[in-house]
Amino acid sequence: MNSNKKGLNTICTHVGELEDKQHKGAVSPLYMSTSYAYEDVDVKRYPRYFNTPNQEGLCKKVAALEHAESALIFGSGMAAVSTALLAFLNAGDHVVLQQTLYGGTYNLVNEEFSKYGIQYSFTEGWHADAFEAQIKENTKVIYIETPSNPLLTITDLEAVAALAKKHGIITLIDNTFASPVNQNPIDFGIDVVIHSATKYMGGHSDICAGAVASTAENIERIFHLAKNFGGSLSDYTVWLLERSMKTMGIRVRAQNENALEMAYFLDELIDIEKVYYPGLPSHPEYDLAKKQMKGFGGMLSFELKENLDSSKFQKALNLIKPSMSLAGVESTVISPTQTSHALMSAEVRAEQGIADGLIRFSVGIEEAEDLKEDILQAIALIK
Ligand SMILES: *Cc1c(COP(=O)(O)O)cnc(C)c1O
Repeated sequence: MNSNKKGLNTICTHVGELEDKQHKGAVSPLYMSTSYAYEDVDVKRYPRYFNTPNQEGLCKKVAALEHAESALIFGSGMAAVSTALLAFLNAGDHVVLQQTLYGGTYNLVNEEFSKYGIQYSFTEGWHADAFEAQIKENTKVIYIETPSNPLLTITDLEAVAALAKKHGIITLIDNTFASPVNQNPIDFGIDVVIHSATKYMGGHSDICAGAVASTAENIERIFHLAKNFGGSLSDYTVWLLERSMKTMGIRVRAQNENALEMAYFLDELIDIEKVYYPGLPSHPEYDLAKKQMKGFGGMLSFELKENLDSSKFQKALNLIKPSMSLAGVESTVISPTQTSHALMSAEVRAEQGIADGLIRFSVGIEEAEDLKEDILQAIALIK
């Protein structure tokens, strides 16, 4: 089955599956070959050419989920980010990037781009005019992330896409936080969609992978660089990821539901200063989120009141674990001040609105009542 006209969970379960013609097994067979015949065949297959049977199957699923013509699967989210960005940037070109970026992408740009002769600017804020302000004559790419990390700001997909089209610029989005379940940027005119499949696509904190979806023409262009950089994913992990994605729709929808409930719950607590979640009507871009997202996602952030210590709070949690990553079926928290934003000065953090007591919460699929109880007992313990 490879129609992308089907509903979400049907695509998750069936699109791109490989038929077991020999034994009629229920799941896709796994082809681990790194060596394939070259005579009398249509396709010259090789893992680093991104075209083994399992890779091709999974690419169809990802493309269908993102309403794209084509897709590629990578060995990590950063392999997908770096290959996609560099496929559209040559020496002398300029890229405009959203200010609030995933730390790894920020490092890629700051540590590597100058040696390729690629110029870059970061926006001040995330509104469309902040992007317009940075556009130069040689700007080739606009790169966005929405919802953003860690404050869950929402960038207007349609406005940024329209702005880019006016200037003949290609748009790339890191759609990891939303997942294809909650947001399909191509429907709003964005050109290239990138995922860290380590997060919601994998969903069980046991796979590191990446994905890119776009038109066949753009994917062909990215593929030319990808085969030279060599960031392909092992077929065994491709097969595991395909299995994980069968339940992505039901997992992420459960996470949406839990996150919304937790956002309302936290918003009411007197020990919480502030809650950042695009599904709360008090979020400044709530209407925009409603327009461009199908669900508000499983990520939220909250600020503890100043008298509560965020390290002690994390240690006091029993069920919810402090963790570097996100988007698994298990709930986790992280302190941006202690981790992703530790290298920033306190002033820059304050400027960006990242308080010391900020906790980013990746809401899992546990019962919301148990998550609430864990938070209440942790606060009581440290007060
Ligand atoms: C994790 C993450 C990445 C990088 O993905 P890896 O699989 O760790 O390479 C990129 N963007 C976002 C938003 C992420 O959360």
